[in-house]
Amino acid sequence: MLKQLPMPTKTSSELWTDFLAYMEERCSAAEFQNWISPIQVVETNSDELVLKVPNIFVQEYLLQNYKKDLLGFVPVKSNGDLSLRFVISEEQKKQVLFEDQALRSDPLPLNPLYTFDHFIEGPSNQFVKSAALGVSTHPGKSYNPLFIHGGVGLGKTHLLHAIGHAIHKNHKRLKIHCITTEGFINDIVDNLKKKSMDKMKRFYRSLDVLLVDDIQFLQSRLNFEEEFCNTFESLIQQNKQIVITSDKPPSQLKLSERMVARMEWGLVAHVGMPDLETRVAILQHKAELRGIRLPHKIALFIAEHIFHNVRQLEGAINRLSAFSRLINKEVTEDIVENTLGELFQQHPQKRVSVENILKCVSAIFEVRISDLKGSSRTKDVALPRQVAMYLAKELMTDSLMKLASAFGGKTHSTLLHAWKKIRERLQSDESLRRQVEIARRNLEDK
Ligand code: ADP
Ligand code: MG
Repeated sequence: MLKQLPMPTKTSSELWTDFLAYMEERCSAAEFQNWISPIQVVETNSDELVLKVPNIFVQEYLLQNYKKDLLGFVPVKSNGDLSLRFVISEEQKKQVLFEDQALRSDPLPLNPLYTFDHFIEGPSNQFVKSAALGVSTHPGKSYNPLFIHGGVGLGKTHLLHAIGHAIHKNHKRLKIHCITTEGFINDIVDNLKKKSMDKMKRFYRSLDVLLVDDIQFLQSRLNFEEEFCNTFESLIQQNKQIVITSDKPPSQLKLSERMVARMEWGLVAHVGMPDLETRVAILQHKAELRGIRLPHKIALFIAEHIFHNVRQLEGAINRLSAFSRLINKEVTEDIVENTLGELFQQHPQKRVSVENILKCVSAIFEVRISDLKGSSRTKDVALPRQVAMYLAKELMTDSLMKLASAFGGKTHSTLLHAWKKIRERLQSDESLRRQVEIARRNLEDK
């Protein structure tokens, strides 16, 4: 059922796209951005792969670290060597000559696969995607800043880079800079050392678009926060576009009031976990990128088991893709389960029931079950009730409607709201996290 498409039909750039997808799983985002994504394919019709690299270091880096991995993707000569040739990019050669220091003339460090075309839309990300598109069409003129927040592996970096690609394509003259918060801090440290802070400030303040990933890493870095805030204000005042991603909404970040207020100036948009259908669509899209045909039934099976994180969905596809290279066999659900077993989140179709959840939560939080099912909104009851609803959605597979009605006839949107609330709170509330963990363990061991 799951078949590798025949190799010879692949062009150089398709092979390279496969390799990129494969590498993404194996190296850190920073490594990928710095070393892998600057490499380009030069299309040829011979049976060697020609790669354009910005400099010799990138070439050496690739060969020293990933020669073996390349064997799976690059044509091989009769003596077993890779049929691979490198050319150094001319523009880059020139740029290096004129560069007095390392202040970015390197290519925009954007992941080539993180474009809008490769971003699958669903109810959980429609809003944030359309905001991102708006910003890309009219940088500095629609929402400023655009603040994107959501859990790990849900596509924040993907959207940030997609904005970068789109602006780069449609507004060629604009000066775009995409950086992680760690990168920004490192820049400051470097420039402080080299006593070149003025230069750095000039650089940042001359940008048209600043894309900043993972702002949560600015928390409790007071001096850096101030520098960031100044940069931020200066750009916003000139109507220069800023996009920020974070694992929490601004109000939950431990940053100064001034900083939080600035980040709330524009549009704050949440990206959530895609629903089942969207997960299936993502799986099929990623499979297609890798040249494997994934039957709908198998995609559905995987999507039902992996529901916390899109990155894990992608991991599943990578394993299946490696697996389907190895064996030339029909892939059944059993095989999928064996290959991906550890990736599958504990799927607790076990005996977790709303009754068990209520008992467990009532014991941990010392509230009565009847209160949990009731509608009192006092804090002592409301929080445990939300926790119970959260656990029900996390641990059970029944429809939201069915679950909600088991809570004394609540609506499915009440349940969803409770789940979202608790999920957000868990990110910052250590003691709640512990309580929920205890409940979860208790329930799953039953
Ligand atoms: P985050 O920055 O939120 O932790 P990433 O942007 O790194 O997450 O996304 C993790 C992986 O999931 C990436 O490979 C990305 O392409 C993929 N991904 C996330 N959401 C989507 C989506 N809606 N469509 C396609 N791929 C997605
Ligand atoms: Mg990210």
